[in-house]
Amino acid sequence: MSTGIGGAIVQNGQVIRGNNNLAGEIGHVKVEYTKPKKCTCGERGCLEAYASGTAISKTVKERIKQNAVFGQEFEKYGLQTDAKGCAALAELGIEDARSIYERMGDYLARGIAAAINLLNPQVVILGGGVAKSIDLLLPVINMNIHNYFVEGLVETPIMQTALGYEAALLGATALVLENRQCRAEKAGKGIIMKNAWHGCSRADICHAP
Ligand SMILES: [Zn+2]
Repeated sequence: MSTGIGGAIVQNGQVIRGNNNLAGEIGHVKVEYTKPKKCTCGERGCLEAYASGTAISKTVKERIKQNAVFGQEFEKYGLQTDAKGCAALAELGIEDARSIYERMGDYLARGIAAAINLLNPQVVILGGGVAKSIDLLLPVINMNIHNYFVEGLVETPIMQTALGYEAALLGATALVLENRQCRAEKAGKGIIMKNAWHGCSRADICHAP
């Protein structure tokens, strides 16, 4: 959860890719059908249009237009009128900021519940800049998610990634390394090990990664 919202499904240590490498695109799960907001994908009502950092920044600016006092709070604390600034105000107990995060947490609950209902995962892990506000978001997600669950799936833990802000980049890097073909194999020396990420037993001729 950052500028946009993406996702990945991991089973037995492997990313489930789907037919066109697009499995896990939770950002475009529909979470709103009443006057749905337009999403960057061209559709309407997607999770990304409601709960991404970009979406929060837009909501903040809309709210300031309606309520100038809310805008003054950002000035007062020297904060940008974006998702990060809104999170800081919410933590200070500013009601407008809190209500933005509460609404967004409900949309996240809808999207996450759709994934849980479909996949019955062991755990849901949140990452990216928006997930830094996990203390604000988790209570709201946990409070609302029960409204969207299939009974019996309520025990799925939701947590923040332990890999920090760069978790998605680390995942992408791991995928690249995992898919590097062993140089020994390329050279026709027989298949040593396809998965260079874990090291090659013929490092003398492979030198990968
Ligand atoms: Zn979309």
